Amino acid sequence: MSDDTITASMPIFPEVKMNIVTPKAPVTGTVVKSEVCLKGGRKSAGFVRHVEIDVSGTPLEGQCRAGQSFGIVAPGVDANGKPHKVRLYSLASPTCGEDGEGKVISTTPKRVIDEFTPQKDGDDPEKHELFLGVCSNYVCDLQVGDKVQVTGPSGKRFLLPVEHDKHDYIFMATGTGIAPFRSMCKDLFEHPSGPTTSQVHVVMGTPYTTDLLYDEFFCELEEKYENFHYHKAVSREKQTDGSRGLYVGQLVGQKYDEVFGPILSSDRGLMYMCGLVGMQFGIYQLFAEKQITDAYMTIKDELKDVCFSDWDREQMRRYIKPTHRMMVEVY
Ligand code: NAP
Repeated sequence: MSDDTITASMPIFPEVKMNIVTPKAPVTGTVVKSEVCLKGGRKSAGFVRHVEIDVSGTPLEGQCRAGQSFGIVAPGVDANGKPHKVRLYSLASPTCGEDGEGKVISTTPKRVIDEFTPQKDGDDPEKHELFLGVCSNYVCDLQVGDKVQVTGPSGKRFLLPVEHDKHDYIFMATGTGIAPFRSMCKDLFEHPSGPTTSQVHVVMGTPYTTDLLYDEFFCELEEKYENFHYHKAVSREKQTDGSRGLYVGQLVGQKYDEVFGPILSSDRGLMYMCGLVGMQFGIYQLFAEKQITDAYMTIKDELKDVCFSDWDREQMRRYIKPTHRMMVEVY
């Protein structure tokens, strides 16, 4: 193995600052943009916005790196009379901010609209009234000019490596999990030192085409750069060839030999996942089927003699850990 190969397979991640602003002493930002992030004629029941917050003059200015999160503290108190806890939101903005100077950060909040379900002992099992997520609805309601309490940044593992061009990237997202990949793709292709020469693939999973967040941005990147590739896994619509809708993992499986396999099995491949937790399990099993687990997953002895198709979620959660080549942020 040459020295080059060794370096390429071992990504070096940057040191990042964390919790410069803590929830005990949040700083005040100002909303400078809030716009609908879904397309017109949307079919699904969700509401997603793109919200930009000016943090200039605060210690957060210039300190948030693509892939990290920041916190928002909603005003008021919870059911126990205590101030609301901080909620974390993935940055959708690049490291240089929306403004190019690190003054304006952004995120992609989705309104939580649900029915109340008992969470803890003592909750009324019959109660099932409308439940509105406190912070997600607060952030989506904010208007330009509104002040907002912010904290952060947080996260030190879900980052791009220091030397962008030494690796190729596969970004897999479901829904609002696309936010950090908008940030990272901006860092990779709009960097002051020029666009990356690496192969970059974004795989975006949504229920309907109208839920493809930041679709225009990714389509434009694909048009402009031949090393950027955008794959849409739309789960509830028929594909152009008439076949059924599909999930991210199924799309990666279908295009494995021709598109994803060569990258994942080379020393340059890095893989990132953000979104629904279910996506992770499908990918673990796919990687086991394709026999590329060593590079991306550490499998504990408890699972080594069990055929991958028999792994259940609990086993995967307990006995599989991603390596330094697989970055996972799922909920
Ligand atoms: P959404 O719009 O509902 O889209 C989710 C898509 O994933 C749908 O097409 C869904 O298909 C599909 N899906 C369901 N189960 C799957 C599985 N096992 N494997 C692959 N795809 C699957 O998504 P959303 O409501 O925005 O939710 C995104 C999630 O990401 C939330 O849980 C959010 O908390 C999380 N998130 C995490 C971070 C972070 O970690 N930093 C950041 C942002 C978002 P069907 O519905 O058709 O079955």
